[in-house]
Amino acid sequence: MLALEMYRSLPRTVAGKALGGRLPMVGAMATPLRLVTIEPPRVERPGWARLRTRLSGICGSDLGAVSGRTSLYFSAVVSFPFVPGHEVVADLMDDCEDLPKGTRVVLDPVLSCAPRGLEPCEECASGHPNRCTRITVGNLAPGLQTGFCTTTGGGWSQQLSAHRSQLHVVPDGYSDEQAVLIEPTACAVHSALRADIAPNARVLVSGAGSVGLLTTLALRELTPAGEIIVVAKHGHQRELAVKLGATEVVTPTEVLRRVRRLSGAFQLEPDYSRGYLLGGVDVAFDAVGNRASLETALHATRAGGRVVLSGMPASADLSAAWFRELEIVGTYASSPTEPGGRGAFGLATELVAHDAVAQLAKSVAPYPLHRWREAVDHAQSAGRLGTVKVAFDPRKRG
Ligand SMILES: [Zn+2]
Repeated sequence: MLALEMYRSLPRTVAGKALGGRLPMVGAMATPLRLVTIEPPRVERPGWARLRTRLSGICGSDLGAVSGRTSLYFSAVVSFPFVPGHEVVADLMDDCEDLPKGTRVVLDPVLSCAPRGLEPCEECASGHPNRCTRITVGNLAPGLQTGFCTTTGGGWSQQLSAHRSQLHVVPDGYSDEQAVLIEPTACAVHSALRADIAPNARVLVSGAGSVGLLTTLALRELTPAGEIIVVAKHGHQRELAVKLGATEVVTPTEVLRRVRRLSGAFQLEPDYSRGYLLGGVDVAFDAVGNRASLETALHATRAGGRVVLSGMPASADLSAAWFRELEIVGTYASSPTEPGGRGAFGLATELVAHDAVAQLAKSVAPYPLHRWREAVDHAQSAGRLGTVKVAFDPRKRG
């Protein structure tokens, strides 16, 4: 089968680190990714099935890996070579316990104790497999998720393998483009609920790519947030943010000034570094995962407030966290037992039926595997190009 494969290549990774982000085209050319023909992955164990990919999204964490920007911290929880792609819509090629062959599913990509054939660790047993401590052991090669594990394959290929515990049925009537947004929406649901938003809290979402927009929707629909201020760079993002529940949309340059006015905060301008507020929002989300966005979140949050890491984190000046006694809340993947007791995938599947998400789904840009360089470039510039989600459709040839 055809697959895109990420392989271990230090020089290329270093090259990606040097160039990625500043020169997207050159960055993409330096990626340790290649199109290959390989044997489809098959896990011959109870509860496993083969899946034929319909669509698989490109996520910020994938771009980080492709461009070599991901922290080396994660090198211990992946196994090479791996087929990326953890936002997956696929058809079952085998019967899988109660699900008949042919069922259209989306994937909770976390490879926790259940798929690894292990007795549940403490985190899995308490309903938080996204915090599993056994992601490097058991019946599979190391890998925090499908799409980072050599044994299971990933969505950027014609076929992969998955465990029953990872599968969620896509309701009839959903387009594949809507369905491919269920996994990122589940992560957004998890972030919004992890933030433990108080009634009428003033919230800032820094970033209006797919993470920021879906987090805005989850905040509006599932939490008692009051004002939701979204930082957006591009026109189509502004429009979507409002449709999804933002009460204010601001540009990165005006965010501090607007939050200062809304919250009656003081704005300070330290020497040779970013300004910050004394006062500000109750909770801020970094929905980008770069330094500027994370510092915006830290600098716009009131003392004793909360900063939620929704994007894959970047290094930042943590002075405000110390000085303003901020709570830093990490949010990774999603949980089958979110606060309130429901699973993130069930909630996300309902949210994706929202009108504005249906509109967002129409802008999903599908690429055949062999046009991966274009797809990666497109994903890297998605905001500027008016796209919210770029995906691979391995069935496409042209
Ligand atoms: Zn576990």
